[in-house]
Amino acid sequence: MHQDCIFCKIAAGEIPAKMIYEDDQVVAFLDINPVAPVHVLVIPKKHIANLMDTQPEDLALLGHAMLVIKQIASQLGLSDDGFRVVVNTKHNGGQTVPHLHWHVLGGRFMNWPPG
Ligand code: 5GP
Ligand code: ZN
Repeated sequence: MHQDCIFCKIAAGEIPAKMIYEDDQVVAFLDINPVAPVHVLVIPKKHIANLMDTQPEDLALLGHAMLVIKQIASQLGLSDDGFRVVVNTKHNGGQTVPHLHWHVLGGRFMNWPPG
C-alpha cells in the first residue's frame, strides 16, 4: 500500500468503487468518469506507478492482467464487437493517477488516432 495512492486505497477497500472483479493479484472497477458505455479500470494490487516502473519480476502479473481483461470483456459482452485496452503512461500519455492501470473501453466504436 502506497501512501496517498487513490488506487491502492480502492484495492484495499478504503475508498469505495463499483468492483467488478477481484483476485489475489488484480482488481477491476468502474471508472468514476466513464468515457464510453463500458469503462473499466484493471489495476494490480501491488503499487506500480506506471508501465516504466515494471520489472522482469512483474512478468506473470502483467500476463495475468491481460487474461483478466479478456475474461472481463467476455463477461461484459464486448467479445463480439470488440473493445480497446489503454495504458496511459506518464505525462505525454495522459496518465493522471500514478498507479498502473488498464482502461477497458467498449460499447461504442473507438476512434483512431486518439486525441
Ligand atoms: P489516467 O488518466 O491516469 O489514465 O486514468 C485515471 C482514471 O481514473 C480516469 O479515467 C479517472 O476517471 C479514474 N479515476 C480517478 N479517480 C477515481 C476514483 O476515485 N474512482 C474511480 N472509480 N475512478 C477514478
Ligand atoms: Zn498505488
